[in-house]
Amino acid sequence: MKQIRLGRTGIEVGAIGFGALQIATKLNSSASTRLVHYALDTGVTFFDTALGYMDSEIKLGKALRGRRRARAIVASKAGISDPKSFARSIDDSLRRLQMDYIDIYMFHGLDRPKQFNQVFADGGLMDVMHRAQKAGRIRWIGFSGHVPAIARRSIETGVFDVVLYPLSFMNREARSKGVLAAARRRDVAFLSMKPFGGGRIHRADWAIDYVKQFAEVVPVIGFERPEQIDEVIRLYHRKIAFTAAQRAEMERFRRRVGRFFCRGCGYCMPCPQGIPIKKVTFWPVIYEQMGAKASITPHLLKAVELVEVCTRCRKCVERCPYSLDIPGMLRGNKQHILRVAQSAGL
Ligand code: SF4
Ligand code: SF4
Repeated sequence: MKQIRLGRTGIEVGAIGFGALQIATKLNSSASTRLVHYALDTGVTFFDTALGYMDSEIKLGKALRGRRRARAIVASKAGISDPKSFARSIDDSLRRLQMDYIDIYMFHGLDRPKQFNQVFADGGLMDVMHRAQKAGRIRWIGFSGHVPAIARRSIETGVFDVVLYPLSFMNREARSKGVLAAARRRDVAFLSMKPFGGGRIHRADWAIDYVKQFAEVVPVIGFERPEQIDEVIRLYHRKIAFTAAQRAEMERFRRRVGRFFCRGCGYCMPCPQGIPIKKVTFWPVIYEQMGAKASITPHLLKAVELVEVCTRCRKCVERCPYSLDIPGMLRGNKQHILRVAQSAGL
């Protein structure tokens, strides 16, 4: 497997990363262990999990017990909270992973100016990270995000080693809005979040061919079966260029699906009617990754009820950087959510 240097950390990992959310939602413990072992044996050495991914840390930690631990580079992350709670999150991740150290620890979803201030305030969360790093409990510091301006600003502070950010055939803002360029300037490792567009890109060849053009980017992919790992590795290493007709077909697909493709950035909010828009518009991505039970929560059902009070004022559409038809998506997703909830017996 091709090796990729993770920016200024200097460590090298197999070019394909393993996203461990799916082992929490789709596999039991022994199937997870088998899949993680298979991945390691085929040269996948980077594993990404999170405190918030249900029992993913527990399953991943179990699979990497013993000699395998040293062969893996493990990243985990926790949501932004107050310093005490964040310190506890690091403890919890270490305990759940059953590890003495975590290679990369990240702020999960650094997307708001307020969160940026919480991280960088005196005595804030970055101090907590640095203390954990000094104590040898984490080795490098990163963040995941969805908002270009905040991601660029965070990278430009010069304190981050790693960024996990959406980059796919469907979602190119990392490139067009300078996040990738900022990471290159600062030699920050770039991990591609949702290289399959959160499940919307059903053609693995399209997804992989797009992302592999960025030689320093490690796509983090949620696998469920060994054959998927083999297929992605094969596609990553092949040298076939698409024909003009194929490219045109890809572009048509991108434009068609792009009209309904919520990136989860949250720029559209707040809604004057109090509708938690992103919860509903971004739901298809969460559903694809986590399934019906985990994605259709009481909170989501409450949000869905509120869709009815939308006045179609289109304030949200004006704010959405992609001009998505949010009122239409809210209604469409509402129907979809209720159908899925019903057939899952929720
Ligand atoms: S169009 Fe509907 S969802 Fe959008 S801001 Fe207006 S009321 Fe809220
Ligand atoms: S609807 Fe638009 S602004 Fe709102 S979260 Fe999705 S992509 Fe972002």
